[in-house]
Amino acid sequence: MRVLVIEDDAQTAAYMVKGLTEAGHTVDHAPNGRDGLFLGTSGDYDAMVIDRMLPGLDFPNVRQTTVRQAWYDSDGFNRFRGTGWMKEPCASCDEREKDFGGCRCQALALAGRATAADPVCELSPFHHVLEVAAQEAAVATLAPRRISVA
Ligand code: SF4
Repeated sequence: MRVLVIEDDAQTAAYMVKGLTEAGHTVDHAPNGRDGLFLGTSGDYDAMVIDRMLPGLDFPNVRQTTVRQAWYDSDGFNRFRGTGWMKEPCASCDEREKDFGGCRCQALALAGRATAADPVCELSPFHHVLEVAAQEAAVATLAPRRISVA
């Protein structure tokens, strides 16, 4: 598989790239969201590993709580569970219980707010962000390269 790792922490990125490479995958690393967006919209990857923390969310440590308590009772695992957190257009969308508004990390990365409809969705008011990035990636892919002959 060809994998894109989007991770700003160099040590964590190196660990992930090493592990995935040793597992037989071809791995590229983007050290920030902009590079990740550019590479990620190129269509060259089978999978992406994205480091994106959602601000204001605390996740429990299983050394201090049970997995059951963490899953059912913590804010981190409940904030975006179900459909109650949704705003329009997701709140009234017929698809809301199928895709649950898409990816929250992606919404934060592209729309700047974790409560937005995933910009991948054509109904998202932020869908244009993705279209512009895809167009920029397509133009960059088609750009002629200078070849020097020695
Ligand atoms: S992301 Fe799009 S398809 Fe999914 S619930 Fe929201 S508006 Fe509907």
